Amino acid sequence: MSNFWLQVSNDASKVAEAIRRQNYELAMYNIGNAFCWMCCFVERLKEDIKKFPNETYIFEERGKTFQEWILYRYPFCCHHCGYPLCNCVLYSETMEERKDDHKDDFEKLKGGADKRLTEARKSLPQDSVLEKIPLNKLFEGFNKVYGNKVFSTHIEDLTFHYLEEVGEAGHAITVLETLIGHNNTDELDKKIKDDPELKLEKHFNKDQWKKAFDQANSSKKGNEDVCSALGKLEKNEKRNQIAAASICHMIMDEIADVFSWTTAVVNKIEKLGKQHSIIEVFEGADWFPKEKKGKSYLHGMGDAKKFRCPYCGEPSCKTWCPLSNILTKVSESQVKGN
Ligand SMILES: [Zn+2]
Ligand SMILES: [Zn+2]
Repeated sequence: MSNFWLQVSNDASKVAEAIRRQNYELAMYNIGNAFCWMCCFVERLKEDIKKFPNETYIFEERGKTFQEWILYRYPFCCHHCGYPLCNCVLYSETMEERKDDHKDDFEKLKGGADKRLTEARKSLPQDSVLEKIPLNKLFEGFNKVYGNKVFSTHIEDLTFHYLEEVGEAGHAITVLETLIGHNNTDELDKKIKDDPELKLEKHFNKDQWKKAFDQANSSKKGNEDVCSALGKLEKNEKRNQIAAASICHMIMDEIADVFSWTTAVVNKIEKLGKQHSIIEVFEGADWFPKEKKGKSYLHGMGDAKKFRCPYCGEPSCKTWCPLSNILTKVSESQVKGN
C-alpha cells in the first residue's frame, strides 16, 4: 500500500520543485501524475478493506468511492467552518492554535461547523449521481468554496499545505501497515485466511498488547477521557479491528484533504492566468514542457475514452513498465559514470 503512496510523494516533491522554479506547466503535469497515483492507491486501499472482517462498517459512513470520501469531508462546503463559502480566515488564529491556546474557542466553532456539515451532507445528490460528477466539476466546486482563499494566498503557501497533507496521509498509511503488518495483496490474503477476525495475535502477542497499552496509558496520564477509552479498548476482543477501522477513516480523510489542496494548487495556477485545466493534463496538452510532450493518460475517442498508462500506453500497466524505467535510469547513470 505504502509503495503507491511513495509514488504520490515522489510526484508531489516534483510539484514543489516546479513551483520553486516557477514552471507552472511542469507543476500541472506533476500534480496530474500525483493525482493518478493517488487514485491507484485508493483502488488498492479499497481492495484491502474489502478483505477486512468489518468491511461494511469501514465503508458505512464515508461511502465506497473516492468521490464519496471527498464529498463526505467537503460536501461542497469547507470542512473546517462548514460554510459553502469558506470564512475560516476570520478565525485564522483559532484554527491554527486549535490544539493549544484557542482550544475552547475552537470547540465552539467546531460545534457549529459540524452541524452545518451534517446538513450539507444530507443535501448532496445520491451516491449514484455523486459518482458521475466529472472531475472538472469537482475542481470547480472546490474553487467555489475556497476561491477567495486561493486568490489571496501565494502559490508557495498553497504548495506547502499540499505537501503537508501528502506527508500526513503517508504517516496514516504507515500506521495502518504497522498495525496490520507490512503486506502485499498475497500476504494480506493469507493473513486474513489464517485470522479471519483480524485479531493479529501472531503479529502482536498478549505480552506486546499489554506493554503497548501500559505505555499508551502512561503517556496519556492525566487525560481521563483518553485513559478511559484506552481501558475500554483493551478489554474489547475486537480491538484490532476497531483500530484498523479508525485508521482507515483517518486515511480516507487525509487523502480527501490532499485532494482539496490539489484543487487549490491547480485553481491557483489557473488564476495566475495560465488557462490550464487538470483534464488537459490527462489528455496530454500542447502546453506540456518539451520533455513531457506526447504523454497522455487517455486513449480512444469521445465518450469511449479510457485511461491507460502514459509510459507503456497499455490500459493495464504491468511490472515490466516500471522495470523499463529503472533500466533506463541505471543505464543513464552508467553512461555518466564512464
Ligand atoms: Zn472554512
Ligand atoms: Zn505502463
